[in-house]
Amino acid sequence: MTHVPLLPTNLPRTVRSIPGKTDAEPIAFPGGRSCAIMGRVGRLPGGGLAKGLAVTLRTMTRRSITRQYPEVQPDLPPRSRGVIALFEENCTVCMLCARECPDWCIYIDSHKETLPAEGGGRARTRNVLDRFAIDFALCMYCGICIEVCPFDALFWSPEFEYAEYDIAELTHEKERLREWMWTVPPPQAHDPAAEPPKEVGAAEKAAARSARNPPGAGT
Ligand code: SF4
Ligand code: SF4
Repeated sequence: MTHVPLLPTNLPRTVRSIPGKTDAEPIAFPGGRSCAIMGRVGRLPGGGLAKGLAVTLRTMTRRSITRQYPEVQPDLPPRSRGVIALFEENCTVCMLCARECPDWCIYIDSHKETLPAEGGGRARTRNVLDRFAIDFALCMYCGICIEVCPFDALFWSPEFEYAEYDIAELTHEKERLREWMWTVPPPQAHDPAAEPPKEVGAAEKAAARSARNPPGAGT
């Protein structure tokens, strides 16, 4: 039977000793070649110790990037997509968010309530929100629901500590979503060079118009 070698026998010898160096002598590692030299030193007798000490010395002088989480909370950017918060008071149960969600992970239940007529008007009906839940096991944090909500009822909160041991418990109901509203950061200030919002421009125009033509002046 022919013997087939598992490795080619003509590989170059990569492990060589460093001439004139012994284990007792410290070895300087120039920046660009440090990896190659460290690889060789690590294979010398006592080289592992020298290699470890060199790594310790090198990292001792660097600034630490370790975050002491959870004792120290991370400083997240203001637009972090942590979790979706619901401002329940603004929700009119229009169902737009649930219809546009690509994952179908928003569950809404509601009923109609008739308000008694006031001042001789007709009785009015309104939708009352019974259930608003988001399954964060399905949600892909695309933000479409927040974008399409016409009544500013959904917001991004940077809250991220809502992990659960059971995936079924990642469906969070409106009470929890409402609690997350307290962690929603205030809107960022407008860039001073940006155009003013349309509403502000329209209000300023209306104020200027009424200052030119005060009510009752032309009659
Ligand atoms: S972020 Fe996207 S996937 Fe998640 S609930 Fe909203 S629309 Fe659905
Ligand atoms: S789109 Fe906004 S207002 Fe309409 S159901 Fe969703 S959260 Fe409520």
